Amino acid sequence: MQRPSVIVISALTLATIALGITAYKSPSEQRKGQAMNEQREAVSRAPGEREPTPGVKDLTIKVVYDNNPYAKGLETAWGFSALITGTEKTILFDTGGNGQLLLDNMKKLAVDPNRVDVVVLSHIHGDHTGGLGSFLRTNANVTVYLPISFPKRFKENVQSCGAKVVEVKEPVKICENVHSTGQMGKWIKEHSLMIRTKAGLIVMTGCAHPGIVNIVNKTKETVKDDILLVMGGFHLEWATKSKIEKIISAFKQWHVQYVGPCHCSGHKARSLFEKHYGKNYIKIGVGKSINLRDLQ
Ligand SMILES: [Zn+2]
Ligand SMILES: [Zn+2]
Repeated sequence: MQRPSVIVISALTLATIALGITAYKSPSEQRKGQAMNEQREAVSRAPGEREPTPGVKDLTIKVVYDNNPYAKGLETAWGFSALITGTEKTILFDTGGNGQLLLDNMKKLAVDPNRVDVVVLSHIHGDHTGGLGSFLRTNANVTVYLPISFPKRFKENVQSCGAKVVEVKEPVKICENVHSTGQMGKWIKEHSLMIRTKAGLIVMTGCAHPGIVNIVNKTKETVKDDILLVMGGFHLEWATKSKIEKIISAFKQWHVQYVGPCHCSGHKARSLFEKHYGKNYIKIGVGKSINLRDLQ
């Protein structure tokens, strides 16, 4: 039997064009990039006119699965999933641990699974991938972005449902203004999401196994932009108070404006972030909706 082909995007090229990454460019890519930029400027701008601010103008993030409660009537369970709308493609980031619960919560939140174009799986753990099977039985007309290190069997199962698979190794463009950090981590490989908005960058993590500081550092290296919000699982459940405070001071040094630790961040880290961030701390749980307008 012919093995279904797996699409591997030329990640660096796409990310380079879209994000203006200066690292990792070969001289020919630099020349090409320069030529493209000049061409784009010539098309879109009159001489002397300011460059338009890049980034999404309107955006909503709806947390559809989390172990922390927020909205009444929704089930909590260990895991994480969030729906991103307002971007060029509607994206489901992670799928929680239980497919039925994911679909039930989506229904209660009036989210139609068929609206989703892209599913991003942050890492292999069941509390992030467990809902995928049920989701694909409802809507297989999606592209699933997953770390290249996922088992071959997993990728083939996704394809056999009718979905496309994109293996992520390096930073890659998912759609306009949305990129993956590329696969990170030594033991548990994970990638995170970077969303460019007109107000700055939003970073979304699944479990942050490669380390939340390493992840934010990578986003700073990849996208030269201010960080508006870091949200998702920070994986600090067992971290000491002093370690968490060091992380918070790193966030402050980077001028991260808003934080929304949830899932595996742990109670201690959540309350310390809340203490240090005050009104810029976003309490996240299942059913929480964040709009870009709320972050300015
Ligand atoms: Zn995990
Ligand atoms: Zn997790």
